[in-house]
Amino acid sequence: MNFEKLEEIMKTEPAFRWKQTKKAIFRDLIADWNEATVLPKNIREKLQREAPLGIDAEILSSKDKKSVKACIKLQDGLSIETVLMKHTDKRNTVCVSSQVGCPLGCLFCVTGEMGFKRNLTASEIARQVLFFARNLKKQNKKVTNVVFMGMGEPLLNWENVKKAINIINDDREGFGIGARKISVSTAGITEGIEKLSSEFPQINLAISLHASRDKLRGELMPVNKKYPLSKILKTVDEYVKKTNRKVMFEYVMLKDVNDSESHARELAKMLKYPLYMVNLIAYNPNGRFNPTPPEKIKKFKAILEKAGIFTTQRYRFGTDIEAACGQLAYRRGENDFS
Ligand code: SAH
Ligand code: SF4
Repeated sequence: MNFEKLEEIMKTEPAFRWKQTKKAIFRDLIADWNEATVLPKNIREKLQREAPLGIDAEILSSKDKKSVKACIKLQDGLSIETVLMKHTDKRNTVCVSSQVGCPLGCLFCVTGEMGFKRNLTASEIARQVLFFARNLKKQNKKVTNVVFMGMGEPLLNWENVKKAINIINDDREGFGIGARKISVSTAGITEGIEKLSSEFPQINLAISLHASRDKLRGELMPVNKKYPLSKILKTVDEYVKKTNRKVMFEYVMLKDVNDSESHARELAKMLKYPLYMVNLIAYNPNGRFNPTPPEKIKKFKAILEKAGIFTTQRYRFGTDIEAACGQLAYRRGENDFS
């Protein structure tokens, strides 16, 4: 599906036709232009010919069927991945990519290892949600949540991410997913956090922290040189004051690197506000580190909880399908990163 091409075609038509077209795609989730009966036949035929609705993707399911990963091929031959996570409480969360690769090069991250190829357009981001929305529709289900936790750093592609959020959120011509059901995860791009909070104060913010000291964080995440902990925390403090929203701090558990009891205590001290929560993520190995054993994660969690910090623990969904975003496209050699 080439949205840009579609937009170009519809420019020659009255403006309300474009609205009808968007509604047909994102709200009615049509799979064939013939289903868009509000449009005149000649337009439908033209669209069928010049802007087909198909999405070129390959699907892989995890053994437990709780997560499905799609590798979506883009117009220029690059591919991105999107993961659908089916939660037991009926939520269906789509984890979208915002860039092909990532320029930030975090050591524990496969996407980071690939380097950066390009930003995704808004429609390439929306297409990821669309792919699973169409699939779920066949089972009478819906996408209920969207998280920007796939490949790339969303706040370094703000204009496109913003447009995509508008499509995801729009309840007339978009997916109609409420802002509180949309989350953006960032490595700590402070200008981006400020933009997010002023333009979408209802959207959930997650910060990838991963360390309680600048030295270690800088070793794991080179971006820490430009955005050190003090700068991030100051911005988050302002964010919380302004929005009164909770903030989720992501912390990937790396064995003997960032998982000691003193790390936990330092983290607890840093995150002193009641709206600050921590999510401990089990590391999905990329060859550089080892995952922290579950008992040690438990201990770490207990220290945070004792300090009054709400803490969740999450395994990345579908690790058996290499669902840490970035791994599949990379291994299949489809992205020519050198
Ligand atoms: N660039 C953004 C969003 C994409 S990464 C960010 O870094 O926040 C989404 C989450 O996956 C981040 O918290 C990231 O640190 C985490 N992650 C990356 N590689 C991982 C791995 N190998 N195992 C577990 N979590 C990982
Ligand atoms: Fe980029 Fe996020 Fe991976 Fe770091 S963890 S390299 S910021 S995608």
